[in-house]
Amino acid sequence: MDLKSGYPWWAVKNGLMHAFPPLHRDLRCDVAVVGGGITGALIADEFARHGHEVAVLDERDLGWGSSAVSTALLQYEIDTHMVDLAKRHGEPAALLAYRSCVDAIELLAALAARVRDTGFRRCDSLYYASRRRDMRALREEYELRAAHGFEVEWLDAGDVRERQGFDAPCAILSRRAAQVDPYRLTLRLFAQLQRAGVQVHDRSRVEDIQAGSRGVTLRTTEGATVRAGHVVMATGYAGQQWLRKRVARNRSSYAFVTDPVDRDVLGTLRRTLLWESARPYLYVRTTADDRLLVGGEDDAVDVPAKRDRRVDAKARKLRRKLSKLFPELPLEPAYAWAGTFAETDDGLPFFGPHAQHGPRLHFAMAYGGNGITYSMLGAGLLRARVERRRHPLSRLFSFGRLGL
Ligand SMILES: Cc1cc2nc3c(=O)[nH]c(=O)nc-3n(C[C@H](O)[C@H](O)[C@H](O)COP(=O)(O)OP(=O)(O)OC[C@H]3O[C@@H](n4cnc5c(N)ncnc54)[C@H](O)[C@@H]3O)c2cc1C
Repeated sequence: MDLKSGYPWWAVKNGLMHAFPPLHRDLRCDVAVVGGGITGALIADEFARHGHEVAVLDERDLGWGSSAVSTALLQYEIDTHMVDLAKRHGEPAALLAYRSCVDAIELLAALAARVRDTGFRRCDSLYYASRRRDMRALREEYELRAAHGFEVEWLDAGDVRERQGFDAPCAILSRRAAQVDPYRLTLRLFAQLQRAGVQVHDRSRVEDIQAGSRGVTLRTTEGATVRAGHVVMATGYAGQQWLRKRVARNRSSYAFVTDPVDRDVLGTLRRTLLWESARPYLYVRTTADDRLLVGGEDDAVDVPAKRDRRVDAKARKLRRKLSKLFPELPLEPAYAWAGTFAETDDGLPFFGPHAQHGPRLHFAMAYGGNGITYSMLGAGLLRARVERRRHPLSRLFSFGRLGL
């Protein structure tokens, strides 16, 4: 599956950080993880640190899938408002999802401190109303979150102008957000795992899976066999190819970075993730070297060549939109790209087994705009499943919520 246009930004920025050998022999392990993006890295780390023997296989170079093009804003605020999630799954479930995502930011902070040098930085998240008619929905969202003790602040138009330096009818300011270099985190984590004895192999494509009641056998294109007690399919947006019925829609997203910008010019933007109530939304973050990273303009395109042809026009449109808010910012795109992502109906991910394959083959589908946050939660959830322990998110993040 072609996941992105051209060379992925984070890989270009970091260069090839670490090489891993392809798998040329047969292996046995407790848990095999198929997919070496950020999801596979977080899951392999979770299992390995808790005494499981782990092997990881990826068909590409590690981290070279969606994780290398992700804009990697880390937010507990998922694409579906808590108010809307409560209407769909009930308020306790919505609260559980949102609170768990707050926990995920803390888990990612602890992980980044352990892995070191990952471009992780804590920041605020500012969710602004794009139009006056969105004000009521934002207010409801703010009140529900405030009632449940989330650290949120209501900004009216004057506050947005005075404190953030642009014009919007109102905004919710949330603490507890962060940003990271997703490729760097993935590669540094895999290098550490490899040093700790985890079998990490790239350029090794899994083409056949036989899931039985006592274990799972994987076969690679190169002819190696992996026998594992459990397998986790952390295959990103390609994961749906192993399911007869689709569980999410593929979409395309677009982004660009500028050259580094003076810190005085960036002002509060340097420590704030900005996003809006319009859908698809415009969003902005900064990078460790003070570039502006601007993204959005998502569309329903699912044909890579068509997606890639749109990159320049989409970058121009993103730039125009942001210039209206911040006319003084230097917003010339230095590098622009597109990536495929997938979206579920309710904005929640899927972690766990699917009836089609039995209980030992687990899927890790961190779909939606908050995939990295979800993957952090999914790692703990999947370990609980394999160790036959209860986990609060098992049901809400399972295929069971679709009746599958
Ligand atoms: C443009 C864009 C912006 C995004 N912005 C954000 C954001 O701001 N915040 C956020 O939290 N999330 C964001 N996301 C989502 C986030 O990037 C994803 O959730 C995350 O990168 C998915 O990681 P992954 O490891 O599951 O998938 P990938 O990184 O794609 O890794 C899956 C790996 O599986 C391998 N694979 C697939 N099939 C096989 C096979 N048969 N055998 C062996 N290997 C296989 C692939 O080669 C690939 O390397 C964004 C995504 C995109 C595209």
